[in-house]
Amino acid sequence: MLGAPPFATIAALTDDGEDAEMCGSLRSALHVSAVPAPVARARGRHARVARGSRARRCRAGASAGGPAASRDAEAAASSEPAPSSAPSSSYGAAMQSVNVAGVSLFAGMAFTSSKALAIPHVEVPDIRWVDWRALKRAGFKACVFDKDNTLTAPYEKSVEPRVADALNECVAVFGAENVAVLSNSAGLAQYDPTGAVADAMEAALGIGFLRHSSKKPSGSCVALEERFKCAPKDMVMLGDRYLTDVVYGNRHGMFTVRCAPFTEAGESASIRAAKKVEAIAVAWWRKPDGSRKPERCPGKKPHANVPEGKDASHFVASPGVW
Ligand SMILES: [Mg+2]
Repeated sequence: MLGAPPFATIAALTDDGEDAEMCGSLRSALHVSAVPAPVARARGRHARVARGSRARRCRAGASAGGPAASRDAEAAASSEPAPSSAPSSSYGAAMQSVNVAGVSLFAGMAFTSSKALAIPHVEVPDIRWVDWRALKRAGFKACVFDKDNTLTAPYEKSVEPRVADALNECVAVFGAENVAVLSNSAGLAQYDPTGAVADAMEAALGIGFLRHSSKKPSGSCVALEERFKCAPKDMVMLGDRYLTDVVYGNRHGMFTVRCAPFTEAGESASIRAAKKVEAIAVAWWRKPDGSRKPERCPGKKPHANVPEGKDASHFVASPGVW
């Protein structure tokens, strides 16, 4: 059963002619058969529903045998139960899943130029593809990570083994004091009111977790500026969610890196549904003009710290591999 936020978002998108085909894809992906009649009437015209137009996944087509392909295979094959460290109460799980600010922002972005906020500067299979030294040389001073599906499996309290070395390298390049996690689970007052999860994660990963009360993409970055003693433009935001991590980073002028998620295992149905919505929407929004083909690794989005004569893909290690 779909949760209200993604359904409401789709309903809010349905009467725009340009986006009608995308909305058809969204409804198809989420198994929503029709827009509620009152919504359609209020909009004053019918939504055009495209058939058989499921938008391509942003990251489709990863090279065979590469980490991205193996990750997809692992995720598809995974049938693990929810991890034991998942929220123990249904209230906690539900509240962690609902991101009202994010849904509202998404609905607003759909019809304005602000949809560009959801487009990362670069996209990588995971943080192993990030060239930390190139970022440092370009003037970046700090890295801000999402936790779930970027450093760990959802709700897990230890770093995902395959990216442990990459995280260690990031810390070695930038210094532990210039690396931190801004999570919508660990450290978020709503989900982790005592900070116990964040404490455990700091001990396990050896990097700081911000204690905060605003879910990404909302909230300021004052705490990050005070922590790192640098401007947001000199920070790198890395995460798996377009409409939380990427939007948050872009809102504040950071360099944004979107990582493909490790797995859906352990995630709630509402989060899985929301991720389908955002993946389809973002793929649609960033397609080149007049083309249906999404640009998998944009690299064209400008940022002040990108060296002259280069584009954002300069910070991706072996960009041609995937
Ligand atoms: Mg995440």
